[in-house]
Order: sequence, then structure tokens, then C-alpha cells
Amino acid sequence: MSTRRERRERARKIKRRICLALGLAAVICLAMVLIPRLSADPQAMATPIDQAAETPEVTPQAQEGPSLEVTPGPGEGEGQDTEAAQGDAEETEPAADDQGEAEDTEKEEQTEPAPAQPEPAPVPKPLEGLIIGIDPGHQDHPNYEKEAVAPGSSEMKMKVSGGTAGVSTRIPEYVVVLDVGMQLKARLEALGAQVVMTRESHDVDISNQERAKICNDAGCHLVLRLHCNGAEDKSVNGISLFIRATGEGAEEAFEAAKALLPAMLEETGARDFRIHKSDTYTGLNWSVPPSILVEMGFMSNPEEDQKLCDPGYQALLVEGMVKGIAQYFERDLTGADPSEAEETVDVPPLDTENYVE
Ligand SMILES: [Zn+2]
Repeated sequence: MSTRRERRERARKIKRRICLALGLAAVICLAMVLIPRLSADPQAMATPIDQAAETPEVTPQAQEGPSLEVTPGPGEGEGQDTEAAQGDAEETEPAADDQGEAEDTEKEEQTEPAPAQPEPAPVPKPLEGLIIGIDPGHQDHPNYEKEAVAPGSSEMKMKVSGGTAGVSTRIPEYVVVLDVGMQLKARLEALGAQVVMTRESHDVDISNQERAKICNDAGCHLVLRLHCNGAEDKSVNGISLFIRATGEGAEEAFEAAKALLPAMLEETGARDFRIHKSDTYTGLNWSVPPSILVEMGFMSNPEEDQKLCDPGYQALLVEGMVKGIAQYFERDLTGADPSEAEETVDVPPLDTENYVE
């Protein structure tokens, strides 16, 4: 009896299984018919069905998610792509809910590096990378020894002349040019340039040839040699620039002078005493980089003498030179903080004993 019952029960179970199998087959057939129709309509409830059907495949997709996000990471210019990849990964997360919270948090940790924005690069200063030579002309005592006026030349000139002095102020040229030079140095450095000074005090003995070599050795991109002019005619005034007529750096110096002079005239309102080409200046001839002798004004003119010794006017001269330098090197000074230039400049004290009578 027991075996018959068992057989009946087995038969019932088999029937049930057959019914279930048939039912499942019917459901699968229905699904096969319905899925293409529903998925054709983007607004239909396709998502849950897709998720149900693709559940076994979600796991590898989710695991591949972080690597997808990492791939566009190194390309800095592909930020939008990174966001898109991240967005896709986030959308797949709900399907992987049954994988547990631990894996979710792990995934979140892995996704964190992707949206990290690169730190903003520091804004470069406008004159960064430039090396500017400043040669404040003369010194407290002239050197009458001779040196060659140019490489390979037999013509000899005095190593350092005495320079001029203010007809009204009696202040010597070498004092004014160092005043202006130190202000120019501070301004250029505040704008990011590297500055090479041939002298920072009056009590030196450096020939014009040596001054040129100091700037050559420092790899200067441009050299400004600061001077004040003098003339017998006291009415003569204005700013003039001298550059070498021929040889190394002559063309570049002319281009730089054409940028410098208008900028200086605009800042100061001084008279245009033009650009002069000459091969008679030792300091210019020995210079490898373009070099400009800046005659900032005439100390033989009482009014201009007063101006040249006035810190306010000196600041205008400096500003003009800075703007000219920036223009020559095609650097934009817009937005440069002018307050940075207002630092104290350590200028050597005036030595009244050396005033020229
Ligand atoms: Zn001079």
C-alpha cells in the first residue's frame, strides 16, 4: 500500500512540476512577446523588467563601473566625460541593491577620486621668466683707466666717467640713477621678473665693459642702462634712448626701444628726444642681450633736474619703463596688483660731499 501511495504522490508531484513548467513556459513566452513591445516605448515600465532580466549581468557591470570612471580620469580635458561615466554608474546602483551595503559603500569610496577637481594652478605673474639687467650709470668716483670700446676694437675709452649733476639740485647723476634703478628693481620683481643689478651702492669700481659682462653672464633678456643727460644749452630737455647701431642684439634693442620710449613719454609727459643709434658706447657694444642706454632727462635743465630728483616723477619713469618692457615681451600687466610695488626701497643715503658744484 505504501508503495502505491508513494507512486501516487510521485505522480502528483510530477504533474505539479509539469504544470509549473508549462506555466513558466507560458510566462516566458508572454515575456518574450511583451518585452520587445514595452522596451520599444521609452516611457513604459521597461526598467524593472530589464533589471529583473539582467540581474545576473548587473554584478559584473557594477564591478566594471569604477574602472570605467578611472579611465577618463587622467585626461584633464575630459571632465564632462568623467561626469557622464559617473552618472551611469550611479544609475546602475539600485539594481545591485541585493549585493549589500558593504559593497555599495566600497563603490562610493572608489568613485570619490573621479569627481575631484584639479587644484587651480597659481596665476603666473606678468613678467615671470624674464631676467632684466639694470645698470645704474657711473659711481661715486670715476675711473680714468682705459678699456676697449668694443670686442676686438683697438679704440679705447675711459672705464667709468664722472657723469653729470643737477644744475639746480646739485645732486650727482650717479645718485639719481641708482634711486630710479632700485625702484625699478622692486617694481619688476613684484611683477615676477628676475633683476640683475650691476651695482646697488655708490662706492664701487665697475667699468662699463664689466657691467655689460655682468649682465651677459646672468643671461639677461634685456638690459637698461640708466643715465641722466647734460647739455650746454639749459633749455634742452626730454627723454632719449641710445642703442648700438650694428652687431649683436642691435635689431632687438631697436624693437625694445620703440616699445620703451612711447611708454615713458606717456607716463611722464616728457619731451621726445628720440632714439639714437650709435656704436660709441662701451656698455652697449659689449652687451650680448639687447641693451638700451636710457637718458631719463637733462640735469642741465633746471626744471627737468628738479623732476628727476623727485620721487614722484621717478616713479613715473619707472612705470613707463615697466610698461615698455612688458610691451616688448608681449606681457599683459592688466590685473597686476599695483600695491605690490609699494614696498619700501632701500636707497643708499645721499652723500652731500660728492655733490658737484
Ligand atoms: Zn651718464
